[in-house]
Amino acid sequence: MAINFYNTLTHKKEEFKTLDGNNVVRMYSCGPTVYSYAHIGNFRAYIFMDTLRRVLKYNGYKLKHVMNITDVGHLESDADEGEDKMEKAARKENKDPYEIAQYYTDVFLKDMEKLHIDKTEIIAKATDHIQEMLEFVEALVEKGYGYETSRGIYFDISKLDKYPVLSNRNIDDQIAGARVEVDEEKRNPYDFALWIKAPENHIMKWESPWGLSYPGWHIECSAMGRKYLGDQFDIHTGGIDHIPTHHENEIAQSKGLTGKVPAKYWMHVEFLQVDGGKMSKSLGNVYTLDELQKRGIEPLAYKLFCFTAHYRTKLNFTFDTVLASQKALRRLREGFLKHKAGNEAVENNTIEEYKKRFLETINDDLNMPAAMGIVWEVVRNEKKSKQLADLLLEFDKVLGLDLENSEKYLNEEKDIELPKNIIDLIEKRKEARKNKDWELSDKIRDELKDQGYNVKDTKDGMTVEKL
Ligand code: AMP
Ligand code: ZN
Repeated sequence: MAINFYNTLTHKKEEFKTLDGNNVVRMYSCGPTVYSYAHIGNFRAYIFMDTLRRVLKYNGYKLKHVMNITDVGHLESDADEGEDKMEKAARKENKDPYEIAQYYTDVFLKDMEKLHIDKTEIIAKATDHIQEMLEFVEALVEKGYGYETSRGIYFDISKLDKYPVLSNRNIDDQIAGARVEVDEEKRNPYDFALWIKAPENHIMKWESPWGLSYPGWHIECSAMGRKYLGDQFDIHTGGIDHIPTHHENEIAQSKGLTGKVPAKYWMHVEFLQVDGGKMSKSLGNVYTLDELQKRGIEPLAYKLFCFTAHYRTKLNFTFDTVLASQKALRRLREGFLKHKAGNEAVENNTIEEYKKRFLETINDDLNMPAAMGIVWEVVRNEKKSKQLADLLLEFDKVLGLDLENSEKYLNEEKDIELPKNIIDLIEKRKEARKNKDWELSDKIRDELKDQGYNVKDTKDGMTVEKL
């Protein structure tokens, strides 16, 4: 069955076909900059990326998929202004930037596991690919696309036949505007940094023909994508914020070097919002998966919440709506188990019809809200049948909600349903520990024991079990 994806490059839905006509999809996704914890807005992007992978696999494709880890060169603003995010975080936390990168990469990958996001075939760390990046930049300079200033090597956009190609922003309009800081040495206001000369105290820096320096964020993705996937590959994904600068510049670089737009389909996920505005680290209105878990919301419930909106529409986050998804997840698990325990027969036609509609829906540019509608129809089918349980497991290849382990999750949930007075005591004990009031903390622990609850302190926090 045909798959249709919306392509940002052509501004329309197009039938998906691999470039070389075989069944291996070559795909690149812009990954995290590991200077801080990834927030649930970021994870909306990775849930989208994973659902896309799953839909392709469901259709019989194999994947060669690269996700990068940016551990150097991403400056505070995407338009090459400000400091390197990694160096800034390292200074703030009084640590080595490599240590910072390792720590946040590990937490990120653990969070991805909690969301049942499959590992991409290749995870490419920027600092492991400095040589490829440097060669890319040297080749661009040789071809006349790169020039040196006192800050670094810049890409000359006027050398291209067309810029921009992905976004329809009018660069002439913005030249006069105040959005771009004027750098007198740049030939054109929208020229961007390929390679950045390292200030004295910059820790992450490498030898280059232009002295100790480091790569720009855009060249990282171009060089790593090309190394693993070739000059042109099938799909490139990212968040909508990547369209006007990061992806535009990736395209510029590849066109400079190879004459080609590096990917055939460009797919972008809309933002998760809070109170109608963007959720972002710089605005300080972010939540992590950990924070949701502390409020009784499982990572998989957050994933189910993401399926309530199409990936190309904004999604507004509130605790009430995410809690509703937590409850929905419980109903889904219960519904699955009821079918699993059932022994009524369902006609083959019914099953085939469900399958057909599900496939049509996911192949229509990943319409997950509608696909969930079909899932609920199956759950609510009055006939309780193992065939329907199997069908839900089949659909779960795309949903990635780990329905197979429904019973385990429901049991765990029962275990953590605590009475209000116990929750209050736990909160008081947390507060006492935060204030280093060990005497009070021990007293509350004894009180909890008297009420039949055992408290254990682990490195990840506190666990409570019924005695
Ligand atoms: P960063 O680590 O800041 O480079 O962002 C990682 C990914 O998260 C990128 O693909 C961004 O486009 C995406 N992203 C950032 N904020 C949000 C948000 N509020 N909603 C959805 N995606 C986001
Ligand atoms: Zn990228």
